[in-house]
Amino acid sequence: MQLNNYHQLLGIRNLTDSTYILEVERKAMDFEPGQHVLMGRADSIHKREYSIYSGNRDENLELLIKEITDGLVSKNLKKLVPGDELEIEGPLGFFGLEEDAVRQGKKFLFVASGTGIAPFHSMVKSIDGLDYTLLHGVRYTEEAYEKDTYDPDRYMLCTTGDKKGDFHGRVTDYIRQHDFDKDTICYFCGNFNMIREAMDLLSKKGFPSEQLHAEVYF
Ligand SMILES: Cc1cc2nc3c(=O)[nH]c(=O)nc-3n(C[C@H](O)[C@H](O)[C@H](O)COP(=O)(O)OP(=O)(O)OC[C@H]3O[C@@H](n4cnc5c(N)ncnc54)[C@H](O)[C@@H]3O)c2cc1C
Repeated sequence: MQLNNYHQLLGIRNLTDSTYILEVERKAMDFEPGQHVLMGRADSIHKREYSIYSGNRDENLELLIKEITDGLVSKNLKKLVPGDELEIEGPLGFFGLEEDAVRQGKKFLFVASGTGIAPFHSMVKSIDGLDYTLLHGVRYTEEAYEKDTYDPDRYMLCTTGDKKGDFHGRVTDYIRQHDFDKDTICYFCGNFNMIREAMDLLSKKGFPSEQLHAEVYF
């Protein structure tokens, strides 16, 4: 079947004033959880990368997006209404879990800042029985996007702007103050400075670079 790159918007869910989920036609797109797409409005030449938020068994494709007020694409995607079209290329990228490690039941540490939780949401929804700990760093508790998806014993909300999360401080503070099994495989996603600091801390705790994987958003 010949597929074109145009996907209809099916719905939009606002999670906070600035963060929303676009639900779009999947059109038989096959993807590995952790991959991203290049996406923009069909009436614009501008596109940006967005991690796939939905699971690979879900009927439709979902993307979790934070509106950047002085940005070009994220604020214009928010203005779309159901029925409008998006141009989507992909899936792209290699930020996925190693099949052998999943099969062997290895432990995973997922470290996200903000919307950097998107690929981990896809992994948790796609793979049954995953042995993960997810550290989610945000400013305020209301940015715990759809936290009911995760096993509460595996999800740690780290907040800096209020004390209503599970841990008051940055994800890097949490990592500094805790020990992790040395065979844990670690994945980081989101802001570059968070990723650099978190990887540095885990390297100093003795984690080899082969166990550290990163996807930088900005
Ligand atoms: C592989 C990959 C996957 C990505 N997945 C997602 C995703 O799932 N969800 C998502 O919201 N974004 C994601 N991004 C970031 C996204 O591609 C855009 O950079 C973002 O939406 C801003 O685009 P814009 O055109 O609105 O702003 P631009 O005009 O491109 O940029 C404006 C400024 O905003 C900064 N910026 C970009 N993102 C953020 C942010 N989250 N918080 C604060 N400042 C920021 C940029 O560094 C730049 O200085 C991903 C990036 C990559 C490389």
